[in-house]
Amino acid sequence: MLDALFSPQAVAVVGASTDPTKLGHMVLDNIIKYGYQGEVHPINPKADEILGRTCYATVKDVPGPVDLAVIVVPNKFVAGVMNDCGEKGVGAAIVITAGFREAGPEGREMEQAVIEIARKYDIRVVGPNCLGVIDTHSALNASFAARMPDEGKISFMSQSGALCTGILDWAALNGLGFSSFVSLGNKGDLNETDFLEVWRDDPNTSVVMAYLEGVVDGDAFMEAARRLTKVKPFICVKSGTTSAGSRAVSSHTGTLAGSDSAYDAAFKQAGILRARSVSELFAYSTALAYQPLPKGRRVAIITNAGGPGIMATDACEKGGLQLATLSQETVDYLYEVLPPAANHYNPIDVLGDALSDRYEQALEAALKDPGVDAIIFLLTPQAMTEIANTAKAIVRISKNHDKPVLACFMGGKDIAAGNKILGAGHIPFYDFPEDAADALRAMVQQQEWISTEHEEPVNMAADRERAAMALLAAQKAGRLKLNEMEARQIVAAYGLPLPQSQLAFSGDQAAQFAAEIGYPVVMKIISPDILHKSDMGGVVVGIKDEKEARQAYQDILLRARRYMPDADIWGVAVQEMVAKGKEIILGVTKDPTFGHMVMFGLGGIYVEVLKDVQFAIAPITPPQAREMITSLRSYPLLAGVRGEPPSDMEAMVECLLRVSQMVTDLPQIVELDINPLFVYEKGQGVMAVDARIVISE
Ligand code: ADP
Ligand code: MG
Repeated sequence: MLDALFSPQAVAVVGASTDPTKLGHMVLDNIIKYGYQGEVHPINPKADEILGRTCYATVKDVPGPVDLAVIVVPNKFVAGVMNDCGEKGVGAAIVITAGFREAGPEGREMEQAVIEIARKYDIRVVGPNCLGVIDTHSALNASFAARMPDEGKISFMSQSGALCTGILDWAALNGLGFSSFVSLGNKGDLNETDFLEVWRDDPNTSVVMAYLEGVVDGDAFMEAARRLTKVKPFICVKSGTTSAGSRAVSSHTGTLAGSDSAYDAAFKQAGILRARSVSELFAYSTALAYQPLPKGRRVAIITNAGGPGIMATDACEKGGLQLATLSQETVDYLYEVLPPAANHYNPIDVLGDALSDRYEQALEAALKDPGVDAIIFLLTPQAMTEIANTAKAIVRISKNHDKPVLACFMGGKDIAAGNKILGAGHIPFYDFPEDAADALRAMVQQQEWISTEHEEPVNMAADRERAAMALLAAQKAGRLKLNEMEARQIVAAYGLPLPQSQLAFSGDQAAQFAAEIGYPVVMKIISPDILHKSDMGGVVVGIKDEKEARQAYQDILLRARRYMPDADIWGVAVQEMVAKGKEIILGVTKDPTFGHMVMFGLGGIYVEVLKDVQFAIAPITPPQAREMITSLRSYPLLAGVRGEPPSDMEAMVECLLRVSQMVTDLPQIVELDINPLFVYEKGQGVMAVDARIVISE
């Protein structure tokens, strides 16, 4: 797929220029000077020849076939050029020209016209408004970048052209090579998902990197990413915020979902390694591109100074890595070869006066130790430290073992020569121990991702008819915010346990229902206009007898009238007062890119302060549901502290799956809050005490 783009036989540069300061010249020059072997045709009606190549007036005038057109003409001519390309039978186009969607409504229209023509002729388009495309294997630099990267195994796409050039420069300095390099531009046709698919099948790509500001189609992206990440790591920097803020959010779940929660959740569920910065992107990619994945989390640290060793230890622990326990054999050997003052346990300290031999012995021993999965190798430059020799030794020794070695030579000027050797020898190197630990954690994450089987979401039984009816009734009445009465119908239809409830229209009726349900009861105002009931005194708990029930009925109505004189009041619900459990908030919000996102967290009145919640994109699988619960900071409270019995895990998981099923079946639900969901001890289940739903029109 996309051979016309990455390995074309013939390329036309439409808008090629004789003026060396013009993009149309630079692009042509890049294609020629970096050694592309296919045919190159400049297209320009006003020139006969540019850079020694015959120039044609239009693409159609080129004598042989053209696979790829690189378009650099002013925006208003691009549609015409695309038409020519179509008639010529061009397979792919890179539209470098800017002034399209990014420039306003007129540009957007022009872009649409261009893409329509391309679709008509089946031309795949990169851009518009991009830097271009580079493929090192075909020596094709169809861009106006100032450099050509070395050949390598990383494929990279970026939504920012400027970042592309910065990355190329950095890569040149650090010896990082690329396979393909794509500036996505406006993503008029080809977008991130297309390239995930191409690179999954590309034998020249072993790591995929991306800088994205947004994703065109969340579902397709997750699907493609999930398939890619099972075979190759995909590291992505996502910047910018989503448009979630554009809709007024009325639920707790909506408030708690930061603009980035959906991306975090989606990346996690698709096995994407999220880098927080461009420097992390590099940190991860150098390690993943050139080093084998660790089999486990056990790290050995080798150092010539105590401080950095401690820093690395801390960073490993913070990242969930473990300090390996060295085997007796390794320890004995280290006692033999290292001075008595050295540390013969992990972190192995070869001491400040170590020459490269001590380092070599320690590295060899650690790599051989079956209890070690990975090595972080630290060096600080002392007067006698053999920087270059040590670097060479790491390169040499690590080649004979199937364990990752990540180096951190701390310093600047003195250690630069060492880093150069490490880079050339494909040993990832970092400025600080924390960076090495972070990269190693990403490697472990990748290893764990590929070794876990991906489960499919399970289908949960539900009374779909009943739920649809309840939704329809509200929709017909033109109400988008469902009150507790209505929301209960839907929640019950999906099998979540609810307290008994009856809607009373008089004090007599309230007393009658309370007697039927059995005291004590809870009474609540039911009105589509009142969403936070207890804020206005609309909830009375612990009603013990008939007198109190009648009184509560009057009080609740009075307070509601005072609070909102023209509120549409349906009545007062009389509810079974259920035993208090741990308070959970279970919710759903809808993300513009990824759709429904389920939330789970410890609830109660402090939920918005503590913000201890987890998100996952629906539909979710049983292991994902379980992980949402166990990943909470306050999970120990649910697992049971200080002799407390553990909460009912199975029931919580089931609730999450049922809610996930609900929003998968009912896309018109845009927000759901079950707050609180009482969870009881193991075997005792849960109770959805309050529910609110917001639907779309
Ligand atoms: P609000 O609209 O203010 O969120 P809720 O229905 O959640 O109203 O009620 C407020 C609080 O009252 C709940 O957090 C819960 O602690 C308690 N509560 C409500 N209904 C019941 C019930 N049926 N049994 C026991 N406690 C209840
Ligand atoms: Mg509530």
